[in-house]
Amino acid sequence: MTGRAGIVYLVGAGPGDPGLMTARSLELIGSADAIFYDRLIPPGALDGAREDAELVYVGKQPGVPSVPQEEIGERLIEAARAGRSVVRLKGGDPFVFGRGGEEGEALREAGVMFEVVPGVTAGVAATAYAGIPVTHRDDASAVAFVTGHEDPNKEESAIDWPALARFPGTLVFYMGVKRLPQNAASLIAAGRDPEEPAAAIERGTWPGQRTVAATLGSIAEAVEREAVKAPALIVVGEVAKRREQLEWLERRPLHGRRVVVTRARAQASGFAATLRSLGAEVVELPAIRIEPRIDSEEVKRVAGGVGAYDLICLTSPNGVRLLFEAMEAAALDARALAGVTVAAIGPGTARALAERGILADVVPERFVAEGLIEALEDEELAGARVLVARAAKARDVLPDALRERGAEVDVVALYETVREQPGAEEIEAAESADYLTFTSSSTVTNLAEALGDRFPSSARIVSIGPITSETIRAQGLEVDVEAERHDIDGLLSALLDDAGAL
Ligand code: SAH
Repeated sequence: MTGRAGIVYLVGAGPGDPGLMTARSLELIGSADAIFYDRLIPPGALDGAREDAELVYVGKQPGVPSVPQEEIGERLIEAARAGRSVVRLKGGDPFVFGRGGEEGEALREAGVMFEVVPGVTAGVAATAYAGIPVTHRDDASAVAFVTGHEDPNKEESAIDWPALARFPGTLVFYMGVKRLPQNAASLIAAGRDPEEPAAAIERGTWPGQRTVAATLGSIAEAVEREAVKAPALIVVGEVAKRREQLEWLERRPLHGRRVVVTRARAQASGFAATLRSLGAEVVELPAIRIEPRIDSEEVKRVAGGVGAYDLICLTSPNGVRLLFEAMEAAALDARALAGVTVAAIGPGTARALAERGILADVVPERFVAEGLIEALEDEELAGARVLVARAAKARDVLPDALRERGAEVDVVALYETVREQPGAEEIEAAESADYLTFTSSSTVTNLAEALGDRFPSSARIVSIGPITSETIRAQGLEVDVEAERHDIDGLLSALLDDAGAL
């Protein structure tokens, strides 16, 4: 006992898309001593929890024994009485079919302070993500949230079907899949028009969201045929037809596709975000990690003398970042490169340079070492001092070609690419992926080594270019798609093209 009474926060986590969690929920998750959470909370919802927070799963899963409701209440009370700050995290909104009311009552009875943090409820979120406005000036001036599955211990049905049949607006059924045939029949028997539009929204706002449209009279059969599973909402109302105009999420070019990104975590986020905005479900399976080597004597010496080179070749954005870090350590900035010709292997590298005030003098049309050599054709290289700043393990095509043309070449390793062991959850998610993307040879070999026979063999393999493709084939794998432009944008268009989305 700390002497100070704790508090329980009954917090809604929203319907599944992590972006729909409220600012208040994230703040409380980040400060809680203990978090009691349900099954249907968004992926990564607990990522911001304190490292020493106690995380307790109290979810209910059909057919699996779960923590009884009374016990959940007791544990919340106990934790609060011990002076702790407790978050009770629930899917959607805690007071909409979430038993938050019951938990609040138990807390009040025990004299425990609580706060309620509303969440975005599935009834408005899954519908919105399906392109169904629950109200509409022309179609519905009211909306009712209805449970489609009552407490099985209740003797009589509390659902007043004649009243719902007369209800002048949209009906949204939660927990309504299992009893859909009876419920639809009850509504029709009570006088609701069987021709009224209806829809079932499965896993609304999650990457696998799916909407099945029908009429009230045929929705049960459609749901059965399409094997719609919980969690799903059933919507009955004229507004369900508005989806034909308003559907947006399920129209995204990569909706429903699972894409694995194997780049190093530090580089993956931009690419992953682009894929997500196109509708893909992204699995980040970083195969490599960048280990800077800028503390080595060699790098220190080179960085301190960058101004003495005639030409500097940079072969990756990482190289640019680390060269500048090494220069900074030597008390130098972009001005040290004033008289130096700077060549970048591709637009990503050129962008990284531009961010640091250097406009690359040379950027090839093909973003591989051979392309850079071609692009340097007009440079006078005999006797020139050239620096190739790059990763420790790289092909020697570029330095060899430069030397052949009479240049005096220093090669410096700014970083090493080391193998990263992906997490078990990500490995499992990758096994049912549609696409596996490789942005370098090192991602291929390292992922193959890290996964062994759990390598996701059914996914289509997308390669950034010929060198990476060669490595893929050397692993005994097939390249399904190769980018025409050997950079991330090129990889993306190749993938979109393959997915039939262009
Ligand atoms: N408190 C939650 C509802 C819990 S009841 C809320 O406010 O959203 C559980 C039911 O909610 C499910 O059976 C389903 O009908 C609905 N539901 C929850 N999440 C959903 C989702 N992502 N998509 C569709 N329906 C969902």
